[in-house]
Formats: sequence, C-alpha cells, structure tokens
Amino acid sequence: MKGIAAAERPADQTTTEVLPAVVKWLGTRRPMLIDGKAVGSARTLDVDDPATGQQIAQVALAEPSHVETAVAAARRAFESREWRWMPATARGRLLTDAAILVEQHAEELAQLDALDAGLPISLSRALLAGSLGSMHYAAGIPARLSGESLAPAGQPGDQMHAQVIREPMGVVAQVLPWNTPLSMAIEKVVLALATGNTVVLKPAEQTPLSTLRLAELLQTAGFPPGVVNVVPGFGAEAGATLVEHAGIDKISFTGSTVTGKRIVVAAATNLTRISLELGGKSPFIVCADADLDAAVASAAANGFLHAGQACTEPARMLVHRNVYDEFVARLCDAAASFPVGSPLDPATEAGPLVSALQRDRVMAHIDAAREDGATIAHGGEAVDGPGYYLEPTVISDTSPDMRIEREEVFGPVVTVAPFATTDEAVQRANDTSYGLAASVWTNDLAITQRMTRELQAGNVWINCYNMFDAALPFGGYRQSGWGRESGMAALDLYTQTKTVVVSS
Ligand code: NAP
Ligand code: MG
Repeated sequence: MKGIAAAERPADQTTTEVLPAVVKWLGTRRPMLIDGKAVGSARTLDVDDPATGQQIAQVALAEPSHVETAVAAARRAFESREWRWMPATARGRLLTDAAILVEQHAEELAQLDALDAGLPISLSRALLAGSLGSMHYAAGIPARLSGESLAPAGQPGDQMHAQVIREPMGVVAQVLPWNTPLSMAIEKVVLALATGNTVVLKPAEQTPLSTLRLAELLQTAGFPPGVVNVVPGFGAEAGATLVEHAGIDKISFTGSTVTGKRIVVAAATNLTRISLELGGKSPFIVCADADLDAAVASAAANGFLHAGQACTEPARMLVHRNVYDEFVARLCDAAASFPVGSPLDPATEAGPLVSALQRDRVMAHIDAAREDGATIAHGGEAVDGPGYYLEPTVISDTSPDMRIEREEVFGPVVTVAPFATTDEAVQRANDTSYGLAASVWTNDLAITQRMTRELQAGNVWINCYNMFDAALPFGGYRQSGWGRESGMAALDLYTQTKTVVVSS
C-alpha cells in the first residue's frame, strides 16, 4: 500500500461544505417510497461513504413483501384513469415541474452521490446538468407520442383502414448499478414516465440515497401515488423478487453482464420484456497521425475518471507502434498527476472505489495481469489510509490472451498495446465479447470511415470520448446489452404498438 498524495495536493483546494439540508436529511433513517407513502422496514440497510469507510446513513431495507406491495401499487397507478389517460401536455408539465425541482435541489443531490458513491463533486454536478437536459427532453415526449395511420398493401384502401397505436408497456422494473446513481435513476425514470408507464426502482445496495431523494422530489412535483416506487434492497432478495414478478411488464436493467444474464433467465419465466445496459471493455485506438496531446488527455481523463467506474471506460488502448512509446510515457505522467482525492474537493477527478470488495476485485485483476506477464507501467497499488482508494494504473505490453485484456475491471486501470496496421487494430478492437463503445483518434478520413463501419460497438467516438446526449441512442452490441435507452430510440423499449384494422 502506498501513501495518498494528499501532501502533494495544492494547498488552495477547498472542500465543498456539506449543505445543512443534506446533513439533516442523512440524520433520519430514510424510508422507502411505495404508493406515494414513506414506508419503514424492520430491517436496515447501512450506507457508507467510500472515501472514509464511515457509515453516513441508514435506509429502510426492502424485503420481498415490500416489493409485492410496490408492484401492486404501480399496477393500480398504471390502471388509474388519472395516470393512464392523463393529457399528454399535463404529463409533460409534470416532468418539467420535476426538472425545476431537481434543479432547485441540484447541489443537495450532487452531494448525496459524492458522499454515497464517492462520485467526484464536479462530475456529480456535471452529470446532474446532463440529467436535467434529459428531463426537459423527456418532457417533450408525451405530446409527440402518437401512432400512425397506414394504408393496407393488399386490401382495397377504401374498405380497410389501419391504425398503429403506441401504448405504454405497463409496470416497469428498473434495477440500477452504483457508479452514477442519480443520473442513472433520472434517465431511466423519465423515459418510462414520459411514455406513460409506472415504475418500481431498485437502486444498488451501496447507493440508495440519491434515488430516494429523487423519488421524494417526484412526489412533490405531483406524480400520482404509485407512479414511482423505490425499494432499496439486496439484488438477491428485493432485486430477484422484482424481476421474477409476474406483475412486471418490462425490466430495464443496468449493471454487470453476469447479473444481466441472471436477469434474462428470471425474465424468461414470464417472458417479460427486457432491456439491458451491461459492461464493456472499450477500445481506444490511437493512429500514427493522431493529435497526441488530445489523445493522451482524453485517455487519462476518461480512463481514470471516477476511478474508472464507468461502463464506457476506455479500458483497452491500442496505439500505433510509431507513437506507442511516447504515448505510454505521457499516459504514465498523466496518471501520476491525476487528481485523486476527496470526492468533495471540486478539483478531484477520481475518488475511491465504491467498496473494499470492489477494490479487492480490482487488485485481483492487476495481480492477474502481473501473473500473465504484463508490465505495470504506472500505479498498481492500493492507497493507504481511510477509504477505498487505488492508484491510476497503466498496464503496458499486454496481449489479447491475457485476462487483463479480456475481463472488465471497473477500476482506474487501462491497458496499452501497440499495433502495426489498421487491420490489426480493428481485429484486436473487436476481439472481445463486449461492444459498448469504441474510439478512434486520427485525422485520416478514410481510416475514420472504415473503422466506423468495422468496429463492433454501440457507440463510436471519433477524436472525442464519452459524448452522451439526451437525443442520442445509447447502448451496446454483443454482451454489452440489448436495446437503446436514450433519445427517441427509448420509445421502442417503453412502448408497444397495437395494430387496429377497421373495415367499412
Ligand atoms: P451488478 O452487480 O450487476 O448490480 C446491478 C444491480 O443489479 C444492483 O442493483 C444489484 O443489487 C442488482 N442485482 C444483483 N443481483 C440481482 C438479481 N439476481 N436479480 C435482480 N437484481 C440483481 O452491477 P454493479 O456492480 O452495481 O455495477 C457495475 C456494472 O454495471 C459494471 O459491469 C458496469 O459496466 C455496468 N454498468 C453498465 C452501464 C451501461 O449503461 N452499459 C452503466 C453503468 C454500469 P445489489 O446492489 O444488491 O448488488
Ligand atoms: Mg455508499
């Protein structure tokens, strides 16, 4: 274990003061939200701050019986006239009101994720700004949600008239991961609500706080009771009960590929519709002609951001051999000076890992890389002191058969390997079971066009990285997921069509 670079941090950096409203809110055992009511439990979920390892809150833990009640409430709400037939403009207005409330409480919400998930406060604020954009985008959906009128192709058009109506799925189960809890919750919930569904949300056991606060704000905004329910609990218990429930019409899951496969099996029992946003091992290809300053800056900024706890982390860097040595040296320099620190420090870009368990898992991946013969070019050590910190780590000279090139790490660890030809870069980039994102750094238009076509990934970023937008579809190829959860593509996930034929 190495000492944290606290002494090396500039003295003028200030820590964000935790708002009195946050302190007060954390001081009371937080209930879950079911049917518009605050609901307690005989059991408690302890919530800790991964930067200190200290407990910061207690939450009522959802048991299977609470999940049953929540699903029943969501069903009643879905079938209520008030929600089912709410005018589109009123539904949009509720989402706008919710966005205004979230904006008014933005700092409070951003701080909850910093404390609960170790999310750097600057990133937490930036993600929230993006999520507000998603809320306003979603507010525009209800009024634009309509079907179409079709002319049958094989019938006399004056006798057969066809309509395709778009209807909500019904009761949606949303199961969330711990890395960016609030933005994940907002982006899932608003699309489901904009399309007229009701939801039961299961936040990750490590990070329930901001989702509970969000649900309170949604209640205040005026969503009818039962439209949004939150059941904080364990995956194997509350989560499993939820996804196996016959009263669920659609499951939207974000998390690991391993859990995703388990949920697909559970969904098969009732043939519940399902969409999945899963893990990744995204390639970051740096061609010989790339703007190396920009490529190195982006590699470090996105590779180590939030201690690599991002599904789209550029985990596998493939660099043309002409610039490989220089790239590795500069990336190691960037790793050495990367702002690791307290999540409440606005200068911090990487806080701790979410738990001791997660840090142990990441260390095991680094040990496997050592055993397989890779070079730890920078980092590779846990950091002494409270909290679950780990150094930004660069692993070079990796080969495609090594475990570190194949398995998702979900920590501040990137691999770097050289390539000689464009063919080799594409082949190696695609040599993975994942397909979430890929990035290419070049100014050569022909290479750009070719790689864009050949890379097997749901998101391809050219000379940029992590470009998300409320209007753009997001999702994975292969084992990185099913479905696209952002933009109007989400209509395919949260609505179904009904074909109506009228004979005259
Ligand atoms: P995880 O372990 O798969 O857990 C995700 C959620 O599933 C948690 O709420 C978990 O509950 C729950 N769960 C576990 N077992 C379950 C079961 N049998 N039935 C129903 N629910 C169950 O993932 P994580 O470790 O929280 O998050 C990291 C992973 O998420 C990484 O693989 C990352 O790539 C992926 N991710 C993907 C995206 C994307 O958009 N593609 C975005 C963010 C993260 P517990 O909290 O109790 O375990
Ligand atoms: Mg926590």
